Amino acid sequence: MIIINTEIKRLEKYAEENNVPIINKEGLKFIINYIKKNNVKNILEIGSAIGYSSINMALVNNKVEVTTIEKDETRYLEALKNIKKFNLDKRINLVLGDALDINIETKYDLIFIDAAKGKYIDFFHKYANNLKDNGVIITDNIYFHGLVEQKEKIEKKNLKQLVDKIKEYISFLKNNNDFETKFYKAGDGLSVSKRR
Ligand code: SAH
Ligand code: MG
Repeated sequence: MIIINTEIKRLEKYAEENNVPIINKEGLKFIINYIKKNNVKNILEIGSAIGYSSINMALVNNKVEVTTIEKDETRYLEALKNIKKFNLDKRINLVLGDALDINIETKYDLIFIDAAKGKYIDFFHKYANNLKDNGVIITDNIYFHGLVEQKEKIEKKNLKQLVDKIKEYISFLKNNNDFETKFYKAGDGLSVSKRR
């Protein structure tokens, strides 16, 4: 237990020092709770980064299996190393590639979207087919550091475009006839979408 905690802290430190946007504590707690309450067995994650969230999800209990996709090779290699260190390579299947190019057949209890914010709608469309009837799609960073709800003008153009994209995703979810979505303030804002 002590070793696991130390290693988790090391990942958090690495992420902070290298500007890797891992999920925050509150968001992670929310997802871990969801996994426990709903007896989640298999998870698909879009955006592994260094493996922090997939490792934490796999640590909930030894029935949990995660497939996680990362397109950045440096992060992929770091994640590979980390997953091995936690001895989780049997339960975490790390895939290198662009999630929009990869085709997966398996159906999952939980799909966690946590990759390029501008492509959330594309990820949702593509992977909705990989959801079990009772499964959910959880998306991270729905409030994007509070910027999504901020009234005043955001000056930086790229940032504004990103915030607009997330707003677009939120209305896509709100107007979706096939899925019912609940929004949570936990962490950086999370949405939970379930088939109607
Ligand atoms: N889920 C991680 C954080 C992911 S950060 C955690 O909480 O620990 C988002 C990651 O998504 C980045 O590493 C980025 O390289 C990756 N990414 C962005 N677009 C992607 C795509 N189209 N396919 C796969 N990975 C992508
Ligand atoms: Mg995130």
